[in-house]
Amino acid sequence: MIQIKQVSKSFGHVNVLKDIHLEVPESHIYALIGPSGAGKSTLIRSINALESIQAGEILVDGISVHDSKTDINKVRSNIGFVFQSFNLYPHLTAVENVAIAPIQVKKVAKEEAEEKAKKLLTSLGLGDKFASYPGQLSGGQQQRVAIARALAMDPKVMLFDEPTSALDPEMIKEVLDAIRHLASTGMTMVVVTHEMGFAREICNQIVFMADGRIVEVAPPEQFFTNPQTDRAKDFLSKVL
Ligand code: ADP
Ligand code: MG
Repeated sequence: MIQIKQVSKSFGHVNVLKDIHLEVPESHIYALIGPSGAGKSTLIRSINALESIQAGEILVDGISVHDSKTDINKVRSNIGFVFQSFNLYPHLTAVENVAIAPIQVKKVAKEEAEEKAKKLLTSLGLGDKFASYPGQLSGGQQQRVAIARALAMDPKVMLFDEPTSALDPEMIKEVLDAIRHLASTGMTMVVVTHEMGFAREICNQIVFMADGRIVEVAPPEQFFTNPQTDRAKDFLSKVL
């Protein structure tokens, strides 16, 4: 579903992605972990062309994302992206936040889009928050609205960049539960996370990055019990 081939990227003279190769099969969940500055955000953002790349190619469902001939808006409607900061529209209710992209981008009728938004919000445990504005919701609730908003476009892929890092501890579980639920539906996902227990539990593969490179890719049991590289051993000794 996602093919990343020999991707390199620099910011100015700083090479932050170095010859990245990664393939994520349909319905698989990959966790992207590693120290701060490793290039995790840059890599996941380049999957839907929020970042440009200088070399290589990224294909999502067979479509070359960075090809100038590709309609990037069409590609992006297949990719849901959830950020650390929830980025909801403050002046729109939960239902309006979830319905706005289908209405504006896909030209779905307002009533139909709002009906679907309510179903999504209900499935994420927000059945009593339809009319709430972001400022009236907790961080965990806002992040679940953000997940519903991404799902409203019927994406083929969901990308998460540290979805729980801005949350108070007691709200982390409700957001991880929402992602867990998505996993059970067969959604293809890449999740940048510091939640090692979660990564171990739901992911098919752990992708460990450091210094702009993929250092190790392994199933969770193998990665967490028997990391192959000193870099990964050092990282795990600090986070576990
Ligand atoms: P991570 O998400 O793993 O913490 P990032 O992808 O955010 O890492 O950053 C990788 C490297 O790229 C870091 O050295 C960071 O300082 C640099 N970087 C990220 N974004 C920019 C930017 N917009 N301009 C310049 N340098 C950047
Ligand atoms: Mg980051």
